[in-house]
Amino acid sequence: MAKDNNKRPKRRDTVLAHAGRDPGANHGIVNPPVYHASTVVFPTVAKLEASQAAPFDHIHYGRYGTPTTMALEQAVAALEGGDKAISLPSGLSAIACTLQSFLKAGDHALIVDSTYFPTRRFCNGLLAGFGVEVTYYDPLIGAKIAGLIRPNTRLVFLESPGSLTFEVQDVPAIAKAARARGAVVVMDNTWSAGYYFQPFSHGVDVSIQAATKFIAGHSDAMLGVVTVRKELYEQVKTTTANLGVCAGVDECYLGLRGLRSLAARMPRHQETGLKLARWLKARPEVACVLHPALPECPGHELWKRDFTGASGLFSVVLKEFPKKAVAAMLDGLELFALGFSWGGFESLIVPIYPTKVRSVTRWPHPGPAVRIHAGLEDADDLIEDLAAGLKRLTAA
Ligand SMILES: *Cc1c(COP(=O)(O)O)cnc(C)c1O
Repeated sequence: MAKDNNKRPKRRDTVLAHAGRDPGANHGIVNPPVYHASTVVFPTVAKLEASQAAPFDHIHYGRYGTPTTMALEQAVAALEGGDKAISLPSGLSAIACTLQSFLKAGDHALIVDSTYFPTRRFCNGLLAGFGVEVTYYDPLIGAKIAGLIRPNTRLVFLESPGSLTFEVQDVPAIAKAARARGAVVVMDNTWSAGYYFQPFSHGVDVSIQAATKFIAGHSDAMLGVVTVRKELYEQVKTTTANLGVCAGVDECYLGLRGLRSLAARMPRHQETGLKLARWLKARPEVACVLHPALPECPGHELWKRDFTGASGLFSVVLKEFPKKAVAAMLDGLELFALGFSWGGFESLIVPIYPTKVRSVTRWPHPGPAVRIHAGLEDADDLIEDLAAGLKRLTAA
């Protein structure tokens, strides 16, 4: 919002409508254009050479970004409350590039046990192969993480809440312990969309979002964004340059377009998610509901302290029903589609198996569990769909 730089600071929803665009610089057109670019040409040798010496966030070759890419990066940095952002072709590439930026052979990293499974696969595979040692830690460890930090611990990775099991972490306590020992604090902030949690005011150095989810918001784009404190920008951008990864400009445009309506969508995801969660909690087929805004969710008190709201993603633990009964429940749903991912306008549900994807903490629930993404449909229609599903569950 170049034009308003000297005016009073704006509130979040206003920032979301204006950040990263400047109609005055673009014929008065509201949205930034999509620059499809590989080659950038220069009028003289002097300008060409000066461009190569300029910082990375300067337009000189398509792989390093275009004005479209940079518009998205400015907007996401404003959303997250960080200094600078880097767009990448997926959330996972944002995670992988970040980890590779701060870890080298002989280093040690602490990764939360509830993390998104492909993050774990990356750590156990590629990072381990490069000689980085990884220790997983209990998401509820809080300040006691200090006991796991070694002289060579360079990075602590958080994901709060975990996107399958929803433990809310004590981000400030973990960040404080990590920074006291010189480790960089990285958080996967996808669940809150950056809309309901401000990582940089809770001690985080690098915040990652799978913009594929709530930011793009329409299930039609793969996109990741890493937001950093400005001191760390060069380090992460250098890694993305070395790896040769860059987000596609059409995806950046879709991300920016999705971000403009985040302020309207997130409260609706929250409202519908809570309505479904409360309705499910009262059902006899349900053992418990893991939703950060409900007291039975581990870390609920921390959610109350640190978050300003909840997105529409949560899990439901059922009483002990056989697998085929759960399949009967899910297979017959009319509105909830069976699909990974979340954050789009449409509701989704998937069976989850947390025991398979953790190594240092125990998933305590004997019954089967499902994860729900509450979309933008009418909540009462969604409840009727679930009610019919629970009937199939008990009948099977
Ligand atoms: C989906 C997801 C990712 C990865 O994002 P992609 O864009 O699918 O690569 C990372 N973290 C979390 C929590 C996610 O849900």
